[in-house]
Amino acid sequence: MSKAIRIILMGPPGCGKGTQGKQLEVKYNIPQLSTGDMLRQAVRDCTEVGLQAKECMDKGNLVPDEVLIGIMRERLAASDCDHGYILDGYPRTIGQAEALDRLFSENGQNLLAVINMDVPDNDVVARISGRRQCKKCGAGFHVEFNKAKQDGICDACGGELYQRDDDNEMTVRSRLKIYKEKTAPLLGYYEKQGLLANTPGTGSIDEIFSRVCSLIDERIVS
Ligand code: AMP
Repeated sequence: MSKAIRIILMGPPGCGKGTQGKQLEVKYNIPQLSTGDMLRQAVRDCTEVGLQAKECMDKGNLVPDEVLIGIMRERLAASDCDHGYILDGYPRTIGQAEALDRLFSENGQNLLAVINMDVPDNDVVARISGRRQCKKCGAGFHVEFNKAKQDGICDACGGELYQRDDDNEMTVRSRLKIYKEKTAPLLGYYEKQGLLANTPGTGSIDEIFSRVCSLIDERIVS
């Protein structure tokens, strides 16, 4: 059987994890699992998790580890994850990374790679304030760098595009601060495990995609 492709996409908010994740999903035929999308859906559905998450998300804070660890334990057990997946936005703390490692050792699984896309702080703010997302299928657009063909309408499914509540400059600054404090230490964590691969998150979407795919393909064949 071919090697399962379990990948983590890392990088600051707005680095393009979602955009790259969606393309990787198609190329490698494995699901992209965005914890941000899962939480936003829970907020829309007014579930218990959604109610708990909304306040943290609106302030740009992280939702508590135990909530995310529970969600992902359940999600990763689904059969569509059998051949691998792309994690977009998880883990975001050392506690979450340790929980994921425990899950891997329980199931005799491992990660293929942790791809880190680095983007300067000022680019992050510019990228995020122009970002738009489809309400229906989650596809991402940008008013300047990745325009929808028809204003406000998703190219992929015709759904309505909207701006996330947390995509404003003040919240972005606090998300960046939290990224540096809580999530960036994961780079060292995965480097020690020999899993980290860095690539600039700048350039065109296609250029970044081709660099990310090379990093993945190198590891699939080795
Ligand atoms: P994202 O769409 O990945 O930018 O996530 C949006 C928001 O969802 C974050 O700012 C957090 O409030 C929350 N969130 C997403 N993933 C996680 C996670 N792994 N741990 C804690 N909070 C998360």
